[in-house]
Amino acid sequence: MRIAIGAFMYEANSFSPVPTTLDDFAAGTLVRGPALLDHFRDTNTEVAGFLHACAPLPDAEIIPLLAADANPAGLVQAATYVALRDELLDRLTQAQRTRPLDVVLLALHGAMVAEGEDDPEGAVLSAVRDIVGPQVPIASSLDLHANVTARMAAAADVLVGYRTYPHVDQRRTGERAAAPALAAAQGGPRPRTVVQKVPLIVPAETMQTTHGPMHEVRAEADWLEAEGAALVVSVFGMQPWLDLPEAGGSIVVVGTDPDAAHTHARRLARQFWQRRKAFDVPLVAPDVAVQRALAVERGPVLLVDSADATSAGSPGDSVAVLQALLDVGCGRTDAGTSDTDLCLVPLVDPPAAAAAHAAGAGETLTLSVGGTLDPAHSPSVAVTGHVELLTDGRVMRKGPAYTGMTMDAGPTAVLAIGAIRLLLMSRTIPTSDPEIYRAAGLEPAAARIVVVKSPNLFRAAYGPFAQDIILLDTPGVSSPNLHRFAWQRIGRPIYPLDDFTWDPADPPR
Ligand SMILES: [Zn+2]
Repeated sequence: MRIAIGAFMYEANSFSPVPTTLDDFAAGTLVRGPALLDHFRDTNTEVAGFLHACAPLPDAEIIPLLAADANPAGLVQAATYVALRDELLDRLTQAQRTRPLDVVLLALHGAMVAEGEDDPEGAVLSAVRDIVGPQVPIASSLDLHANVTARMAAAADVLVGYRTYPHVDQRRTGERAAAPALAAAQGGPRPRTVVQKVPLIVPAETMQTTHGPMHEVRAEADWLEAEGAALVVSVFGMQPWLDLPEAGGSIVVVGTDPDAAHTHARRLARQFWQRRKAFDVPLVAPDVAVQRALAVERGPVLLVDSADATSAGSPGDSVAVLQALLDVGCGRTDAGTSDTDLCLVPLVDPPAAAAAHAAGAGETLTLSVGGTLDPAHSPSVAVTGHVELLTDGRVMRKGPAYTGMTMDAGPTAVLAIGAIRLLLMSRTIPTSDPEIYRAAGLEPAAARIVVVKSPNLFRAAYGPFAQDIILLDTPGVSSPNLHRFAWQRIGRPIYPLDDFTWDPADPPR
């Protein structure tokens, strides 16, 4: 059985001014052909899940295509999107010509947007269908933040999303997506994927599947699967900053009886919609949060600057929380500097990181930091500190999410400013794994305050030792306050931008 495997993953933020280029994919994941097998071996990734699902098949012949993944930011530059799409499709065409394929397994994110293409995943899946023909099962894994479109569902036999947020089930999702497609290729019933859109936007901060409204909807989906009513049921909250006509949440049911799948999808969509107000996010002003954090007996207190979340399309260059720490004196030279006094702050600032590297470890610098990538959402601030440590910015993920994958922040420096340790990075990487600090000689578990620029993923690794978690009301392109944005293209009405009644049985709006 010939099984083609590939990955093309990206989460776009419509409001980010920073486009994503081929260099960004090269700094993330860009692996071609047989190198995929080694690259993903023993990782918690969808590709590893595909390979695991294929392993028991005695006649499996794996054809690794291309794996591309970049950190979330703005739209993918048109030329970059076309180049990667075409390379993936050319490799698939070549494989199909050599000998017809039996299954195609793709790891997609589901919230990619490129310049000139609102629905890259739909475009890729449609092109894959054209190449392999109508009989070959196509399965795709997706992030829980995918914006599932009608075109994606029409082209693929199987669409399966993560069921955890914080996402820790990448490999398991790959296995879940592969299983129905492999079964069909071995003569089993052909699966069908049904999508029911839900006209709401869910803030990432309250979308966690560990508790709360998303957990409740997910529990219903689990029950449907356990009852055997469907093969796989996915609940997609969508990443909230997609200003697209087809944007919104969705319920996706994979089954062999389309009528039953539609019924289940509608029932679950109704439950999702009925919980919409339970997703509202309580936010705290940064100065109030800093005072609260300084008053607790023991840290770390996490200050969550999710409006500048580097895993949600923000550049990570905002100094809103740094400024609040400076305002209360945490940057003064007489501020406590024992480990338990430290305030750890990440900041993506390529010129500042370069200046620290040019000065060298141990040197004292006065620098303007912040607002270098998205000045509209962050001013800059002048700081004086000494360069405590310099690193190459490479960080291995050791937390439960994407375990074993390496991130590359480029030249990185720790600037010591009183009790503040400013982690200056050259490139935007997720800050949800405490390893970004540990790789720079800082221990978050011992600190007083730790700033994370992540709406929810940080909970997986920080949850076990954080003493308190405070969600902040700060400016940025991934703010949970969805009324802050100038929405132009999104299909209306949509909650919470509009308050209206809706039922999945209503005719389409
Ligand atoms: Zn996600």
